[in-house]
Amino acid sequence: MTQHKYLLNENQIPTQWYNIVPDLPAPPPPALHPGTREPAGPEDFAPLFPMELIKQEVSQDRYIDIPGGVLDIYKIWRPSPLFRAHRLEKLLDTPAKIFYKYEGVSPAGSHKPNTAVPQAFYNAQEGVRKLTTETGAGQWGSSLSFACAQFDLECEVWQVAASYRAKPYRKTMMEIWGATVHPSPSELTEYGQSLLAENPDHTGSLGIAISEAVAMAAPHDDVRYALGSVLNHVLMHQTIIGEEALLQMQMASETPDVLVGCTGGGSNFGGLSFPFLREKMKGNMNPTIRCVEPAACPSLTKGEYRYDFGDSAGMTPLMKLHTLGHSFVPDPIHAGGLRYHGMSPLVSHIYELGLVEAESIGQSECFNGALQFARTEGIVPAPEPTHAIAAAIREALRAKESGEETVILTALCGHGHLDLASYESFLAGQMIDHDLSESSIAEAMKTVPVV
Ligand SMILES: *Cc1c(COP(=O)(O)O)cnc(C)c1O
Repeated sequence: MTQHKYLLNENQIPTQWYNIVPDLPAPPPPALHPGTREPAGPEDFAPLFPMELIKQEVSQDRYIDIPGGVLDIYKIWRPSPLFRAHRLEKLLDTPAKIFYKYEGVSPAGSHKPNTAVPQAFYNAQEGVRKLTTETGAGQWGSSLSFACAQFDLECEVWQVAASYRAKPYRKTMMEIWGATVHPSPSELTEYGQSLLAENPDHTGSLGIAISEAVAMAAPHDDVRYALGSVLNHVLMHQTIIGEEALLQMQMASETPDVLVGCTGGGSNFGGLSFPFLREKMKGNMNPTIRCVEPAACPSLTKGEYRYDFGDSAGMTPLMKLHTLGHSFVPDPIHAGGLRYHGMSPLVSHIYELGLVEAESIGQSECFNGALQFARTEGIVPAPEPTHAIAAAIREALRAKESGEETVILTALCGHGHLDLASYESFLAGQMIDHDLSESSIAEAMKTVPVV
């Protein structure tokens, strides 16, 4: 009998996150203070993050225990299922075996609660009253709103204005969990006011929303900021995905030949792939591991590896990462998410070390793949993981040509129930693959400081 899903019992839930840093052949470059350009110390991060997360950000411990209070909430949806995509394989007529780890079973519909819950937990433990954050498509804002509700924290979200207008149900979802939501740019910060003075219809960007959320947290002792991707501690919290997937691939008696994951800031990719990369570095398996990014926002494949800011206003510490320039704004017609100007410093470093590969894919190919997936496997993917699906389909078609039984593993990191407008435009034939403007990257790169 063919098996479709591989399920772990609740008592098999991993009880530690994996920190890949001590296993790397070279340490990642430090973050720098934006003023002095010296390595940033804990005191530089203290206005924004609780001490436990600052410790995790620079930890050299290979494993960190997941607190019981976090595991209790993880158990609302974890362990998450691993599926074998038999029906998609049949449609593609491929000898490849396609496995996907599904994170859309969380309350917010994506992998983001895996880090939202511990972030809210540590903040609550340290007496914080309120968290501020940004959200683009709305997945992170929803996840943090849900997590804050679990620990009686207030939550205030700056949502990129274009998305705020296009996705009213994400806002409602955040409000259901008790959060307050503002469009960004907003009149609440000086930076927002200055942008609205130039252009009252400003559509916003993730970098701008980060600047606003940071500005609203930093001056207050009992308010902190939370970031849903990019940082080391975020990627570490997400490794629960890969630790579970390792156990589930064992249940299926398979090891992956190829692992592909979509990368915006790098967290679902790092979460799935780092435990497999650990096993690869130990010589236990040898998968090709590849990041997949949108052709419209290709930070790894077209960006430069340099020190840059995490936000548009240049308020955050400088991080060495693959960047398109902190003022880069992807073309609004790009509907597939993953619109951040930079890649996580840790994924950037690992890419520079040659431990992972990267490719970019245009949005029509992604949405075509998503339709093939939805019509066979049933689940409607969020726009972001359509990149991972398109890459998995590319691999499966390669396997068809070579006749090899390639084992492919990917993450379906969220469902697309609140992103149907992108599908609507694709189905109406209105989605185009615009040419990435090299000049807009060159323009944005001019704003990157010389370090
Ligand atoms: C936020 C989000 C992403 C992009 O973030 P990563 O840190 O690259 O994972 C991808 N997929 C979904 C469903 C998201 O919500």
